[in-house]
Amino acid sequence: MNFTSQQLSWQIAARALAQDDIAPLNREMDQSDAFPVALFEKIAKDGYLGLPLPIEYGGKGADMVSAAFALVEISKANAAVGFTLDAHWLSVDTILHFGTDDQKREYLPKAAAGMLCAFALTEPSGGSDAASIQTTAIKDGDEYVLNGTKTWCTNSEVAGLVIVMAKTDSSRGDKGMSAFLVETGTPGFKVTRKENKMGLRGGSMSCELSLENCRVHESSLLGREGDGFLVAMKGLDVARICISAVAIGTAEAAYQYAKAHASKRKAFGAPIASFQGVQFKIADTAIGLQAARLLLRDVASMADAGTTHRKESAMLKVFASDLAMQAASDAVQIFGGNGFSKDYPVEQLFRDAKVLQIGEGANEVLRMLIGRMSFAE
Ligand SMILES: Cc1cc2nc3c(=O)[nH]c(=O)nc-3n(C[C@H](O)[C@H](O)[C@H](O)COP(=O)(O)OP(=O)(O)OC[C@H]3O[C@@H](n4cnc5c(N)ncnc54)[C@H](O)[C@@H]3O)c2cc1C
Repeated sequence: MNFTSQQLSWQIAARALAQDDIAPLNREMDQSDAFPVALFEKIAKDGYLGLPLPIEYGGKGADMVSAAFALVEISKANAAVGFTLDAHWLSVDTILHFGTDDQKREYLPKAAAGMLCAFALTEPSGGSDAASIQTTAIKDGDEYVLNGTKTWCTNSEVAGLVIVMAKTDSSRGDKGMSAFLVETGTPGFKVTRKENKMGLRGGSMSCELSLENCRVHESSLLGREGDGFLVAMKGLDVARICISAVAIGTAEAAYQYAKAHASKRKAFGAPIASFQGVQFKIADTAIGLQAARLLLRDVASMADAGTTHRKESAMLKVFASDLAMQAASDAVQIFGGNGFSKDYPVEQLFRDAKVLQIGEGANEVLRMLIGRMSFAE
């Protein structure tokens, strides 16, 4: 695959970070479910928190192709760390697109330097039907008063800033939704529970939030009042590129472990890699990986060119996350009984891969979107 020298250099740098700093912590993160603060200080110091941000805001000014393929490398070592960057980049990209000059100057340099950001849309009553959120933001003088509960908010426990989606006019459906920049120290904002997850443990943290009479100045509105649904959907267009990079990294790790194991493990007097039934699994993952990487480059290039890519991002996300789940399941199968053991690495990949089919638009909902857009063409 052809890359520019900038794109290649970020891939090489991210591969080194993944091998030297992330891979050694992989098992410990999964077992302890503790967030690796020192690792994220290093990730920030090396410039990854601001990788896709313009240099004027303290970022590295990398294009989305560079950022996406760097994320593939990081996620090969640990998908959870990749997922944290995904949620952070989604948030900063949203501020970059919809923020006022003051908001960008205030928050983006901090976000590039080490302040993690989060995006709070999902609520206990549901995530797929985004327009039906219950959290409210009522105008009171020059402030908005936020009340509600958010769930599954990735990064929120360690974040400095959360983009909160709330209804400013409950009678107007998706047009009554607005986005707010809420600093996590604001009175009334509270992280109430850490989710006890099946996978993506340690390197990524998702929490429930409570907003109780949480007052923010009207200058905290991100975009115009009523633009919240637009802000969320635009953010998710970019997030789906990033989560696909996490999925490709996960599939790549499963593929490498499965190949190595199949070459060593013997049955019926021969390495299991010599059996067609095993080769076909490896071949299917190889085909999927090649296609997914091409799709990733294509959709990330569309984002870089400023072309609308809602349908393409959704197609990439469905394809890459289904691939990650299939590749991880095949790797467990190729490891046989050992694949089911926590002493081997592929069961973690199996647990990590599952959420990629659920988060940032469940694949059923994205298939609906792709279907609807296909008929509208
Ligand atoms: C680890 C993790 C991290 C997350 N991080 C964040 C975050 O940072 N910020 C955030 O806002 N959210 C986050 N989420 C929430 C995530 O976006 C939601 O879980 C997702 O959108 C699905 O919503 P739900 O869980 O409420 O499922 P539901 O909406 O209840 O859906 C349940 C099932 O029904 C299916 N379904 C729903 N409607 C239809 C339909 N019309 N046709 C067919 N099938 C349908 C869905 O596909 C799904 O399989 C995270 C979730 C997880 C697990």
